[in-house]
Amino acid sequence: MGSRLQGKNVLITGASSGIGEACARHFAQAGSNLILAARRKERLETLKQDLETRHPGIQIRTFELDVRARAKVQETAAKFGDVDVLINNAGLVIGLDKLEDISEEAMDTMIDTNVKGLVHVTQSVLPGMRKRNKGHVINIGSVAGHQAYGNGSIYCASKAAVASITKALLFETIDTAIRISEINPGMVETEFSVVRFRGDKDKADSVYKGLQPLDGNDIAETVVFVAGRPDHVNIAEMLVFPTNQA
Ligand code: NDP
Repeated sequence: MGSRLQGKNVLITGASSGIGEACARHFAQAGSNLILAARRKERLETLKQDLETRHPGIQIRTFELDVRARAKVQETAAKFGDVDVLINNAGLVIGLDKLEDISEEAMDTMIDTNVKGLVHVTQSVLPGMRKRNKGHVINIGSVAGHQAYGNGSIYCASKAAVASITKALLFETIDTAIRISEINPGMVETEFSVVRFRGDKDKADSVYKGLQPLDGNDIAETVVFVAGRPDHVNIAEMLVFPTNQA
């Protein structure tokens, strides 16, 4: 059976690891062409080679891109061609600290990446979707954007901003055939987990105790499902938890 995603051009930011890499693998499996972006270009090249071997029919292009740099995003996006599905996945957390202990640098990095970076990429891609009156923007938010927790103020705020931006975009594209979705993972074991606990394995273990976290594939399967619905169906929002997380 032919997949609805076959031959679609799918742009994934933060495709060099974790959820983004898993999305690349699952969209490749569905026969999509990939536009992969992240700062670690060598990781993207390795992934591209692997996927080209596994799925010889698809086209894969890689772009070294820091989503925080608005002008560079615009310049790079001009080379993307038509984007059918944009997955705004690039994002990070820098440590988790009490509000009074958060450094200016950590705060700027999270806001610049998770919020402004997502806006930069969307601003570069959405006009093309409007022109063609088709496309799908899928934002990777977080449960943290919907329920704040202690020591996560700025990260939670950045993901709450993603939720608000997604809602606003839904209204701004209501008279078009463009779909806007937000997928909110709970705890996923990725490189993110190491950064979150600053490499403190004991701390990570205590948080993961009694919990089997999701892995990138669990989220990628969800993203592919959401993108693969018929054009008149928009799954606007989803929360995806490990079974023992609430
Ligand atoms: P990873 O750390 O494995 O992946 C993050 C990706 O974002 C990397 O590919 C990284 O690539 C990219 N990235 C970071 N900063 C930039 C930047 N400035 N420009 C371009 N790309 C950037 O973590 P996850 O896969 O877990 O995270 C993916 C998304 O999922 C994030 O938005 C995160 O907030 C969200 N999420 C994760 C959860 C979890 O528990 N893991 C839970 C809920 C949401 P590179 O370094 O090469 O640029």
